[in-house]
Amino acid sequence: MSDDIFFYMREPMIVNDMTNNRQNFTDDMRQIKTDKLEEKFNQMVLANQALWEILKEKFGVTDRDLAEKITEIDLRDGKLDGRLTSAPADCPKCGSKISREFNRCLFCGHNAVQVGSAFEKLTV
Ligand SMILES: [Zn+2]
Repeated sequence: MSDDIFFYMREPMIVNDMTNNRQNFTDDMRQIKTDKLEEKFNQMVLANQALWEILKEKFGVTDRDLAEKITEIDLRDGKLDGRLTSAPADCPKCGSKISREFNRCLFCGHNAVQVGSAFEKLTV
């Protein structure tokens, strides 16, 4: 868009169109991202279902086993909220809580080498 203030005053219709075009472009990009996420989500659901059916067939685990494990994992952070969140680790140097997001102690600066499940890196 033009930075000329007089342009905005002279041509309000054009400015309005430009603003609408920008908003439409932003909306279109959001929709494309949402569509891609939905496609990936559907692929993950399908892969999870396939893995689950293989586990049931090959190892005899049940839907009840799965439901109990989901509840156990969900409760690891003390909240049954349907989310996989991991509790922050204790800093080995000063004992403060270390955010997994920063992977270092914000109190003493100790660099934490987190050892854990690869899935923990995927949680938010
Ligand atoms: Zn520390």
